[in-house]
Amino acid sequence: MVDNELEVLDERFTPCVTRSTRVERLYKGCIWAEGPAYVAAGRYVVWSDIPNDRMLRWDETNGAVGVFREPSGYTNGNTVDAAGRLVTCEHGARCVTRTEHDGSVTMLVDRFEGRRLNSPNDVVVASDGAVWFTDPTYGIDSDDQGHKTESEIGGCHVYRFDPGSGECRVVADDFVQPNGLAFSLDERMLYVADTGITHVPGGPRHIRAFAVSPGNALSGGEVFATCTAGAFDGFRLDEAGRIWTSAGDGVHCYDPDGTLIGKVLVPEPVSNVVFGGPGRNRLFITATTSLYSVLLLVTGAPARPALG
Ligand code: MG
Repeated sequence: MVDNELEVLDERFTPCVTRSTRVERLYKGCIWAEGPAYVAAGRYVVWSDIPNDRMLRWDETNGAVGVFREPSGYTNGNTVDAAGRLVTCEHGARCVTRTEHDGSVTMLVDRFEGRRLNSPNDVVVASDGAVWFTDPTYGIDSDDQGHKTESEIGGCHVYRFDPGSGECRVVADDFVQPNGLAFSLDERMLYVADTGITHVPGGPRHIRAFAVSPGNALSGGEVFATCTAGAFDGFRLDEAGRIWTSAGDGVHCYDPDGTLIGKVLVPEPVSNVVFGGPGRNRLFITATTSLYSVLLLVTGAPARPALG
C-alpha cells in the first residue's frame, strides 16, 4: 500500500504509523545534511551541513534555524552522551570531539597506534561511556567534505575508544566503508552499515549485525539487510528494536528479524535519522538539502539503554 508518503510492505508496519502521517520539511538550504542529534535538555536538533563546513540548530519551541558552529571542522555524525554532551565526528581534524557543558570542545581521539584516523563518520556512546565510531575515507577523498589526503592507516575500520583509559582499539577491520552504527537496546548487538558501493563497483550497501561480548569484542557480522534503494547511511533503533534507516528514497523500517516492513518516503536521498521530541516519537531526518520530521506511533530507543 502506498499512502502518499508511506509505503506499508508488511502488516507489522501498520501500528508504527498513522494514516495521517505526513513528512514535514523543517529547513532547506544545506548541501549535504548529515548527523542529526536531538538535545532533549535544550529542545533542539543539531546537525551537520558537511560541504558548507557548519552545524545548524533547529529550535523545537519556535521552529527557528540558526548556525550552531561555523566553521565546524567539516563535522559529520553527532550523538548525545549520558551526561547530555554532544559527541561529534569531524572530517577536518579527523577526530571525534565532545562539546562540554561550558561550550568548550574536547578532542577525544584522532589517532590509532600513532597514525591519524581517516575521517570519523558516525558515532555512538555505550552505557559504559565508551565511544564507538566508524572511520571511512569520505572526508579525505576530496576537498569537498574535508581535506584530500592519503590514509595513514590504510584501512577503514570500526573503533571503540575508552575516554577513561584513552585506549582506542579496532573492533572490526573487514569493512570497505563503515558508516552508520547503533546498538540494540540491551547492547548485545551492534549494527554497522557499509557504504562500500561508493568505492567498489557492486560493493556493499548493507547493514551487518555483530554480537558484542562482555569484553566488548565483536563476533558474527552477517548481513542483516541489503539496501533496496541507494545505500544505507545512518540509522537509529526504536524501543521495539526496529531499525529506522536512511535510504535513497526515504526512511526504511526493518523488523528486528531483518524484514523490510515499510518506508517513509522522502523527496530527497536520506543520510541519517534521530528520534526526538518530548515523547521521543518524532523522527528527524537529514536528507541532502533539508531537515524533515515525521510523527510516528513508536518511540525511539531510550537514550541510555538499560543493561540486563
Ligand atoms: Mg554517515
